[in-house]
Amino acid sequence: MDTPANITPEQLAELDARFVWHPFTPMKQWIAEGDGPGRVIADAEGFELIDTRGRRFIDGFSSLWCNLHGHRVEQIDRAVTEQLGRVAHTTLLGHASGPSIELARRLVQITPPGLEKVFYSDSGSAAVEIALKMAFQYFRNISQPSRRKFIALRSGYHGDTIGSVSLGGIAAFHGIFGPLLFETTFVDSPNPYHHPSGAQGGARVLAQIEEILSRSAAEYCAVIVEPLIQGAGGMLTHPPGFLRSVRKLTTDHGLLLIADEVATGFCRTGGLFACDAEAVTPDLMCLGKGLTGGYLPLAATLATQEIFDAFLARPHEAGTKTFYHGHTFTGNALGCAAANASIELLRQSHLPALLDEKVELIRAAVAPLCDHPNVGDIRQCGMMAGIELVADRDGPKFFDAADRVGAAVCRAALTRDIIIRPLGDVITLMPAPAMDTATLGRLLAGVTATIDEYFKAS
Ligand SMILES: *Cc1c(COP(=O)(O)O)cnc(C)c1O
Repeated sequence: MDTPANITPEQLAELDARFVWHPFTPMKQWIAEGDGPGRVIADAEGFELIDTRGRRFIDGFSSLWCNLHGHRVEQIDRAVTEQLGRVAHTTLLGHASGPSIELARRLVQITPPGLEKVFYSDSGSAAVEIALKMAFQYFRNISQPSRRKFIALRSGYHGDTIGSVSLGGIAAFHGIFGPLLFETTFVDSPNPYHHPSGAQGGARVLAQIEEILSRSAAEYCAVIVEPLIQGAGGMLTHPPGFLRSVRKLTTDHGLLLIADEVATGFCRTGGLFACDAEAVTPDLMCLGKGLTGGYLPLAATLATQEIFDAFLARPHEAGTKTFYHGHTFTGNALGCAAANASIELLRQSHLPALLDEKVELIRAAVAPLCDHPNVGDIRQCGMMAGIELVADRDGPKFFDAADRVGAAVCRAALTRDIIIRPLGDVITLMPAPAMDTATLGRLLAGVTATIDEYFKAS
């Protein structure tokens, strides 16, 4: 094969179509669409992605919700390079490593009080898988083996491995795997827009959970939630107080709360973590995506001391109480080095304190779309926003999913040098929290103009 330097942009796109199977991608369409602007990314700088022809695009989706500080950030680049000069990877099975120790200490310091232990993995799905296995085994270890079921929210998303899919509530992604999944009890999403009862959504869902638990709490080990906002389900925001109320219900009924902060963690919702907004400490917390500033695949599951202690065994019972789970790249040194540098940068740049202005910028920019005949609902939680496109706002009447209107609008945004991704017909905005206000302004103006123009033309 030619060396990369000899490959033209056209050839590269062709080779991609021939050899690469893309995630969450209808491949027939991908191949048929062929090469185009923004398709093959070669470089990046700050908040822009640069394609193989040198064209620059604003990264409006944080490279799938993970980038925090921008691309090629000096401090993180340096931390990874320095670590590479020592060792790229050693195992945490039977050994320890400096970067993973330092990161665990930092995570315990910055996450809600009461989370004391850090278990590493390499994707958000694995972090969730670990949390659910910990919850399940925790109750075995404390001699309550009947507690083995989970409660999850409809429209929730927790990853793509079989365990995390079992907790997922998005029919389009999860339905087909039904026969492979364990049984989970689902309650409604508390987002009011999709409920005729409107703002009652939160209270209704709490009543559903309460009802299940008052009947059969002894069968349940945990409730899992994406705190404040369900991301992949369509940026479904939750009413204030909902998370706190779920925390209270789980405590009252003796089961665990798993907070899946894979998407919401690290400044996405306006604070450092979504749980902070309602002063909630979950029993287990899953982190991924933004953990390394979006640099490398690293995830973590944090647990309380109480959970950790239940896994401590006297030598003769080690086999039954120990958590037998781990991945080859658990606690990878490069990932941990990037995460340490990213968290240090969060601190030095005072990023959490700078968010209010940007959150307000987003709110002000999308507000005029409220009156647009093809915009049904606008949802925002901090730096995460969703604009729901509809065929007719009165009704509302939705587009046929097969028309892929959301995807078409995002494709149209490319002509304005913007890369964003839809969730069905919800246009999502998820800029890096560190994005400067000038670039953010350009992104917002470009997206609103794209939506306007698309429907004028169609
Ligand atoms: C993305 C996501 C996951 C899965 O993370 P991966 O790294 O893609 O496996 C889990 N939970 C939530 C809430 C997510 O947004």
